[in-house]
Amino acid sequence: MPMANGTPTKCGFVAIIGAPNVGKSTLLNRLVGAKVSIVSPKVQTTRTRVLGLTVKGPVQLIFIDTPGIFAPRRRLDRAMVAAAWDGAGDADHIAFLVDADRGINRNTQAIIDRLVERQATADLIINKVDLVKKPDLLALADKLNQTGLFRETFMISAETGDGVDGLAEHWASIVPEGPWLFPEDQLSDMPERLLAAEITREKLYHQLHQELPYAATVETESWTDQEDGSVRIEQVIYVQRDSQKAIVLGKKGARIKSIGADSRAELEDMFGCRVHLFLFVKVREKWGDDPDRYRDWGLDYNA
Ligand code: GDP
Ligand code: MG
Repeated sequence: MPMANGTPTKCGFVAIIGAPNVGKSTLLNRLVGAKVSIVSPKVQTTRTRVLGLTVKGPVQLIFIDTPGIFAPRRRLDRAMVAAAWDGAGDADHIAFLVDADRGINRNTQAIIDRLVERQATADLIINKVDLVKKPDLLALADKLNQTGLFRETFMISAETGDGVDGLAEHWASIVPEGPWLFPEDQLSDMPERLLAAEITREKLYHQLHQELPYAATVETESWTDQEDGSVRIEQVIYVQRDSQKAIVLGKKGARIKSIGADSRAELEDMFGCRVHLFLFVKVREKWGDDPDRYRDWGLDYNA
């Protein structure tokens, strides 16, 4: 049995599931202590399963951030929701996140029904407690606990960090003995090229309105480590129509310049070196039906 400072090591998977926008990715980043999953106030941001890692004493916790679960219509939606349920199936523990402010909406109820059907047990995490008054929180927790699904209930704010340490300690105390599955200092399993593309996609979400980012995807085409220690990254933003291309470019290229500046600043921070970022916009009408994209993201095209 592998040891860490004289204690047998432990290791376990926790899947974070919930409706879109409840704060799953924000929580993952908090637990890991670094940004490994992108966040936005808008639509479906997380497209695939993202692993985040943390070590607490002798315990390695492996968190699986998942796309939001909702009633899927498009192919990409179906693939994302399937990836979320796969993530839940692979884990030792399920963390079910609910938005304290929005309460039990249709998506949340649908997930509860499915968990009941699967006879799953989960930990209930009520997030965004910073937005809600205490009596309302207790009422929501009561109502959710009537489902009989939940082993323990936690109230947290992923944004402020309130209650998040307690959560990590809870999981650290219940995962089984076993070897660590990743190196101690690794934070995520996402390749740098993909992470760099995700950061640019996040800036797109932040700077453009609702419909457009959904119709866009970002790919890192080349990544070159330069002799002076900087890195040169070329990325393509694919959109589905010429009109969308015009929006991403903005007047005289102002919008894409601003997205590029935001993304570069964060990439430099993240990778700890100077970054030369080159963004291109291309129209590819059917990228949402391109099997190669799904493979890159680890999604099932036929879900
Ligand atoms: P996901 O779709 O479940 O992964 O949700 P995100 O992590 O992308 O978060 C969705 C939105 O909720 C973002 O605007 C976050 O900043 C916000 N958010 C997440 N956690 C909290 C929280 O604890 N309090 C508040 N007020 N906002 C939060
Ligand atoms: Mg997310």
